[in-house]
Amino acid sequence: MRYGFVIDLKRCYGCYSCQVSCKAENLTPPGVFLARCLKGETGKYPTVVRQSLPVLCMQCKDPECKKVCPTKATTVREDGIVTIDKNLCIGCKYCIVACPYGARYFVPKWKSYFPDKELPNPLKREENPFEAYSRKRWIEEHGEGTVAKCDFCIERVEKGLNPACVDACPAKARYFGNLEDPETEVSILIKTERGFQLNPEFGTDPAVYYLPPR
Ligand code: SF4
Ligand code: SF4
Repeated sequence: MRYGFVIDLKRCYGCYSCQVSCKAENLTPPGVFLARCLKGETGKYPTVVRQSLPVLCMQCKDPECKKVCPTKATTVREDGIVTIDKNLCIGCKYCIVACPYGARYFVPKWKSYFPDKELPNPLKREENPFEAYSRKRWIEEHGEGTVAKCDFCIERVEKGLNPACVDACPAKARYFGNLEDPETEVSILIKTERGFQLNPEFGTDPAVYYLPPR
């Protein structure tokens, strides 16, 4: 079993639903995006094409982030998902430098989305219940002064659900499944629609595949 993604670049129209649903699912602090949708342009006027490129942690089979970690906080599970143990991570950021896909974030301290919280009394606002829940959950799952990244929504996957971004994509551009079973939708799409990995020359063997744009 090896979990993986297929992202169809023909279908993606760059709506950012994956990025937003990831923030809602994982309650990430400001500036932290475990799933992102990048935008670029190819060609020359008047035949310019605008292209979206959704990215996330590639759950590499041979990840650079794991090799450089001095405390062995990063591991690759049997199902291929790459995890970070918050109790072992010392926030040295070696993995952030080593990851060729820019998939990791350092979170020194959980931060409010509402800067007025930082104002002096009497303008200081009380933390609302949702914010308090978000902070508590983030610290429980990731700690503070540690590194975070996408883990394919591991808690959802263990309940038999898709990662949140797969279900949120209105274009049905994202597929999730077992790459090692030739009968799964992901395996069939990779085989029949010229699926490719992003920058295979990095040599990490990503579990995220893309189908070519038009
Ligand atoms: S939700 Fe789907 S269509 Fe929207 S940006 Fe993400 S992959 Fe593209
Ligand atoms: S994309 Fe980066 S963080 Fe994710 S497994 Fe690969 S090397 Fe590690």
